[in-house]
Amino acid sequence: MATPGVLRLLAELADGTIEEFTPLIDEDGRVSYPDAQQHLDARDGDPFEVLETLASRGILYREFRDKVYVCPDCGADGMRFMTICPGCGSPNTIEQELLEHIECGGVAPRDAFQANDGEYMCPECDLSLHPEHIETLSQHVCQTCGERAADPVNSLRCRECVSIYEPEETIEWVLYSYGFERDGESWLETQLSARRSMAGMLRERDFNVEVDTTITNEAGNEEIPVHIRGEDELLGDRVIVAVHERPISDDVERLQNSVEVAGARGVLITTSGAVSEQAEELARRHEIGVLSLQQDGSLKREYETATDVPQSSVFERLTSSVRQQFSQ
Ligand SMILES: [Zn+2]
Ligand SMILES: [Zn+2]
Ligand SMILES: [Zn+2]
Repeated sequence: MATPGVLRLLAELADGTIEEFTPLIDEDGRVSYPDAQQHLDARDGDPFEVLETLASRGILYREFRDKVYVCPDCGADGMRFMTICPGCGSPNTIEQELLEHIECGGVAPRDAFQANDGEYMCPECDLSLHPEHIETLSQHVCQTCGERAADPVNSLRCRECVSIYEPEETIEWVLYSYGFERDGESWLETQLSARRSMAGMLRERDFNVEVDTTITNEAGNEEIPVHIRGEDELLGDRVIVAVHERPISDDVERLQNSVEVAGARGVLITTSGAVSEQAEELARRHEIGVLSLQQDGSLKREYETATDVPQSSVFERLTSSVRQQFSQ
C-alpha cells in the first residue's frame, strides 16, 4: 500500500508545497488530481483510488468540495439546470397563471376569462361564471408546442455542445479534496524513517544505495518502482527493500517480483511490527527477510504475526471513528 509513489505524494503535503490535493475535471470529463498524479507511478493506479484508500486508512481526510454534472456527449462539466417541456423537450417554457372553468375544463389566461363588466365568462363554453366556478392554476406552458404541464421536466444542458439530458442520464461526480488527517504526517514520517534506517544500515555495510528508485524489467519496457535498491559491487550482492505499515501477501508478491527482476535478495520491513499470516508464509517461501521498525528507529528481526482481521493496527483503530463520519 505504501508504494514509493504514495510516499512521494504524501511528502508533497508534508513539506507544505501544497495544502490539499484538489480535484480538476479534465477534457474527457473525468475527475483528475494533477498534484497527486505527478508523484505516482503507473503501477500505483488511479490517483483518485489512491487518495480514497489513504482516506479510508485515516491517513488523509477527505472534504466535500462540489458536485458536478458532466455531459455524456462531449465530457464538458458545469451543465446548467433547466426545465423543459415534457412534450417536445424544448426549454422554452414559461410559468403562467391560468384559470380553469371547473365544470367544462376550459383553461385560458385570466384575460380571456374577463368580461367587460368585471364578470367572468368562460372562453370555452361562453357561460357567465362566479369566482367559485373557477380554479387558478399555475402551469408551465411550452412556447414551442403549446403543451401545458403543472411540473416541467428537470434537465441539464451542456454549455459546450448544448445537448440536453435528464439529470440521471448525466455523469455525476462528487469532488473531494484531501489533506493530512491528524496522525497522517507522523504515519508518513514512520515510513520514511524505516527507509532511512535501512538505507543507513546498507551504507554501513558498503552497499551502494538508491532510495525511491526504479529497476527495469527483463524486457526493458517497464520501470518498476522500489523503495530501496542496494548493491555490493565487490561481492555482487544485491538487495531490494520494501517498506509497509503491515505487509500483506500482495506486498510480498510485488517485492518478490522486483527481487526476481533485479536478481537480488528481498527484505521486507514492517513499520507496525506486525505481518499478516499469509504474508509471513509467503515471505518464508520466497526467502524474503522480514525486519520490523523499533520505537528507537532501529530495525530488528522480531515481529508479530497478525492473525486477526487485516488492517486493524492500532493506528487503524484510532482513526476508525473518523472514517465512520464519512461513511454516514
Ligand atoms: Zn413543447
Ligand atoms: Zn366553460
Ligand atoms: Zn456536451
